[in-house]
Amino acid sequence: MINFNSKLPTVGTTIFSVMSKLAADHQAINLSQGFPDYAADEKLTSAISQAMKDGFNQYAPMPGLLALRALIAEKIETFYGAKYHPETEVTVTAGGTQAIFTAINTFITSGDEVIIFEPAYDCYAPTIKLLGGLVKPFELQAPDYKIDWEMVKKLFTANTKMIIINSPHNPTGSILRKEDIDALIKLTKDTDILILSDEVYEHIIFDGEQHQSVALYPELAERSFIVASFGKLLHTTGWKMGYCLAPAKLMAEFRKVHQFNVFSVNTPMQVGIANYLKSTNIYKEIPVFFQQKRDHFQQLLNETKFELLPCKGSYFQCVSFNNISDEKDTDFAKRLVTEFGVASIPVSAFYTKNIDHKVLRFCFAKEDSTLEKAVEKLIKL
Ligand code: PMP
Repeated sequence: MINFNSKLPTVGTTIFSVMSKLAADHQAINLSQGFPDYAADEKLTSAISQAMKDGFNQYAPMPGLLALRALIAEKIETFYGAKYHPETEVTVTAGGTQAIFTAINTFITSGDEVIIFEPAYDCYAPTIKLLGGLVKPFELQAPDYKIDWEMVKKLFTANTKMIIINSPHNPTGSILRKEDIDALIKLTKDTDILILSDEVYEHIIFDGEQHQSVALYPELAERSFIVASFGKLLHTTGWKMGYCLAPAKLMAEFRKVHQFNVFSVNTPMQVGIANYLKSTNIYKEIPVFFQQKRDHFQQLLNETKFELLPCKGSYFQCVSFNNISDEKDTDFAKRLVTEFGVASIPVSAFYTKNIDHKVLRFCFAKEDSTLEKAVEKLIKL
């Protein structure tokens, strides 16, 4: 037997795997993990296979196919009025996850502190810890998960190196507003603090709200890595395609890590996605598509005993079960699968301290019929 020290001794199987397995074992409807259960656009899948047939099967350029980077830059300028140079400021990545991993790796070393907002998407903290960094979680409270920036300020020390924000937010469906951005600008002014802005749900935003990309604000953009995911945009989470944006100086450092991490990303995917993006209205369609899903799911859930939490973006609806049970959210979520046949994610899983507000997260990126069947079961609660 060899001896070793785990670099992540407290990390076990994630709640996503646990709930998905439970869902499979009990043939439950799986609203736990965030992925669509409907097909991607046929035009998109044809564009990818055409790229393979056309012979785009060897290494792509290290930062990504220039044609795709140019389309990304064009989109960012159209939506946020910001100029990112395709040659030097856009890099195609293997999903948002790799962009996050690489951005954190680019700058965080032993002893650096990174502020994250919990409940938080699960890949931030382990990545920081792998590098010897210190996670400084700021705990948000149900039901609205609003950030008290005066309190955030108290987490700042001389070692604060990075702040990770995520809007629209997984798991809560909350969004950052202009006042949050103003506070963040004020807090980081005259510091060398970097921002990692996880914007993978940028186009899944509701009720006429404007996505507050850090790209809109030069004071933030100059210190920020912006992370995006084609998995969310194109309903293809299994393709693991995304990108990162940053000013040239930061991006040059990012690419030093990226090139030894993956070197480059799946070529036919890049060609196919670029060709597809040229011929669709996807950016206009996505918010409308998901707003319909959210509205439908909320209407259905209104017939249950759950209390709905606000959902302004992302494809997650959180619900409180406070008036149904006083079980731990993990126990309640497990019982929901085994006894009622619906899988969710208990939100305590997104807190370092497993704070339990009696809230569950449901993913509504599902066929209407899936959502309807799920709620038929939940009504029995
Ligand atoms: N950030 C957030 C907030 C996410 O929800 C996800 C995907 N669940 C990612 C990043 C990762 O995106 P990708 O699947 O493209 O790696």
